[in-house]
Amino acid sequence: MALLQIAEPGQSSSPHEHRIGIGIDLGTTNSLVASVRSSTPTILKDEQQHSLLPSVVHYTEDDILVGDPAKAFISQDPSNTIVSVKRFMGRSKADIRFQHPYQLEGTDQEMPSFITRQGSKTPVEISAQILLTLKQRAENALGHDITGAVITVPAYFDEAQRQATRDAAKLVGLNVLRLLNEPTAAAIAYGLDQNSQIAEDQNFAIYDLGGGTFDISILRFSKGVFEVLATGGHTALGGDDIDRLIVKYLKQQFSLGTLANQQHAELIQIAKAAKEQLTTETSVDIQFHQYHTSLDQNQLQDIIQPVTERTIQVCQRVLRDAKLKAEQINAVILVGGSTRTLAIQDAVRNYFHQEPLCSINPDEVVALGAAITANQLVGNAQDGTLLLDVTPLSLGLETMGGLVERVIPRNTPIPVSRRQEFTTYQDGQTAMLIHVVQGERDLVEHCRTLAKFELRGIPPMTAGAARIEVTFQVDADGLLNVSALETTSNVQAHITIKPSYGLSEKDTERLLLEGFKFAEQDKKDRQLQETKVEAQREIEALKQALAVDQHLLSAEEAERLNSALKILEHTLQDQDIDKIEQAVENLKVYSDLFAAMRMNRHIDHALKGTRVEDWAANQQDKDK
Ligand code: ADP
Ligand code: MG
Repeated sequence: MALLQIAEPGQSSSPHEHRIGIGIDLGTTNSLVASVRSSTPTILKDEQQHSLLPSVVHYTEDDILVGDPAKAFISQDPSNTIVSVKRFMGRSKADIRFQHPYQLEGTDQEMPSFITRQGSKTPVEISAQILLTLKQRAENALGHDITGAVITVPAYFDEAQRQATRDAAKLVGLNVLRLLNEPTAAAIAYGLDQNSQIAEDQNFAIYDLGGGTFDISILRFSKGVFEVLATGGHTALGGDDIDRLIVKYLKQQFSLGTLANQQHAELIQIAKAAKEQLTTETSVDIQFHQYHTSLDQNQLQDIIQPVTERTIQVCQRVLRDAKLKAEQINAVILVGGSTRTLAIQDAVRNYFHQEPLCSINPDEVVALGAAITANQLVGNAQDGTLLLDVTPLSLGLETMGGLVERVIPRNTPIPVSRRQEFTTYQDGQTAMLIHVVQGERDLVEHCRTLAKFELRGIPPMTAGAARIEVTFQVDADGLLNVSALETTSNVQAHITIKPSYGLSEKDTERLLLEGFKFAEQDKKDRQLQETKVEAQREIEALKQALAVDQHLLSAEEAERLNSALKILEHTLQDQDIDKIEQAVENLKVYSDLFAAMRMNRHIDHALKGTRVEDWAANQQDKDK
């Protein structure tokens, strides 16, 4: 029987005890996963060395495709190919006012489902598919189970959208360490939170232009906390609009009228490629069937002017909201693939009167910041202060007249507990409705309802005599607990809030069932990873032994052992657990023999006694 290994105190532990945190940027257009490896935040790639996973899910008759393979079906089979599912997360049907090609099902108050050939699918389930792909990518790349993940969300996401994101992670067995605001993640990636020499508060602007969305956030870093001062943006402004403007220009150049869908799609691809090339070249040639032209950076700047201008207008508004001038911004960070366009960088530089930070790849920066936070949260980071998380929106309850009493204001660091006293409104009132809401508005009707519960059994008293203490408690995971206690009689009631976004009972049940389905796959994945880790450990141990004692083997024996070792190493690249186990068995035949030889020699040696020189030589061997 193999002995269990115990690591030396203070030494890094065996891979088994290694805690792995990953950072996930679950984007509208593209998603990424990253992890801190040997102290460096690193994007994890798939087998084809791709970093970006297009956020696209396609349902075939009996399979689910995610990413690049799904992308091929966007124009061919739109209703079974979901793009930009992030726009639907935690939204009710009534919230969805933008154009989309999908058939949705559900009542106005519910988060709707997409009707696909595999039945109806909620946004949570579809996002879960993207998360599952990223989780598997991470496990493959790291050869290890994932302890937990930090997932980024836009700063303006409300509790329902955040909860939907958490639920998606839960469906695939991903432990969410924290949801992190995307702009905060970008600031962390640049280490803006580690600048401890600066005592004063710092203001940062994060300009994020992605594929189809624009977000600008103003953050203040103060006493170890990033506070969101203001956010703004546009839910339909991004790289796709730039592509459309280029297409329009090219059609004018070529004097083309309306194009067939296929040709139109082709021209969009050409425009996109030209735009992306122009970030490194001053001019590009463009060929579309018999037409030919060229495009340079100055022309591109003119063509995309409408997009650039609109983003700067939003920046102006947001700075005004934050009550800051451009000069008071200490750093500007560029995020999102579209900020690679030089004309965009110029516009940002001019507006903020400073060189924006863009040394970190703008479509990777958010995932990298999330990875740094994840690494800290699983307890791996020795240095750096851990950022506190804050409540994204204010939490409060309804008081008379449909007014909101804020109990925990927005941007309060969590965990937090706040207590406030309330009283009855009527003489003889024996019950009280506690209506918990979230939002920044003063009227209940403008805020989002999180929960309602009743405190009953209040002894009849004159109005205003009862003392009801209501406690709001947000734990480190962001879960809200509300309790109410009438202090003269000690009657109490409480509720734990999983903020609702209108999931029906039926949906909840179905999601649970599907959770079991994923659990099966998760179990298989875990077994595979465990087998791999075990085999890897065997290989390492054997290699170390060979370095010292290979001379004990005949040339032929050494040859056999080494080739069995190679075969095992080779199988580790596959996902086939049977093959790996077989290779381990095969190796065992030779390695056991070798182990026996070593044992004999060591007993021999021990009987003779070890001379100091031998011991020293042995140590040197080990150090090699
Ligand atoms: P999202 O945050 O919406 O998921 P990304 O940050 O990944 O999106 O940005 C995707 C957009 O970035 C696409 O419109 C793509 O064309 C654009 N993009 C990628 N590379 C470049 C480049 N080199 N130059 C200009 N735009 C680019
Ligand atoms: Mg993004």
